[in-house]
Amino acid sequence: MDIAEDNVIASAPAGQGSRRSGTKVYLVGGGIASLAAPAFMIRDGDVLGRDITIFEESGKIGGSLDGAGSPQNGYVLRGGRMIERKYLCTYDLFSSIPTLDGSRSVTDEIFTWNETMKT
Ligand SMILES: Cc1cc2nc3c(=O)[nH]c(=O)nc-3n(C[C@H](O)[C@H](O)[C@H](O)COP(=O)(O)OP(=O)(O)OC[C@H]3O[C@@H](n4cnc5c(N)ncnc54)[C@H](O)[C@@H]3O)c2cc1C
Repeated sequence: MDIAEDNVIASAPAGQGSRRSGTKVYLVGGGIASLAAPAFMIRDGDVLGRDITIFEESGKIGGSLDGAGSPQNGYVLRGGRMIERKYLCTYDLFSSIPTLDGSRSVTDEIFTWNETMKT
């Protein structure tokens, strides 16, 4: 196995419906930038998930967000993080990402949580 194969940590699942084929995307680094970009490419660019590869040298995804956890138990970020209403692109992306229980979007979950935590 070469270095590139060693560092492949995520290959997004194949998209559904009529999708562009032949486009290959390779992202260096598994931080939020390289996790967000494929979501936009799949949702808005009709790129197939299986054609997107992320290379991460540390073996952990998340980069500076420094998160840990699992799909079963959820994820925790160690630091306190600000996520404000002006993060329009983030909320646009999260509006199409379901929460772990699938009941609503991550954007809805964040806004609801913010309502309970007045600062
Ligand atoms: C303590 C702290 C608090 C913060 N608080 C906030 C906040 O409240 N609100 C906010 O919006 N932002 C906050 N930020 C900033 C935010 O976390 C970063 O802007 C964001 O995570 C950067 O994401 P990124 O994907 O661009 O880069 P990174 O997260 O730096 O990811 C880059 C990844 O690339 C990998 N990599 C590098 N070179 C290579 C290579 N050659 N080959 C393979 N992999 C490579 C690295 O290992 C890393 O995983 C905070 C940052 C820190 C450190």
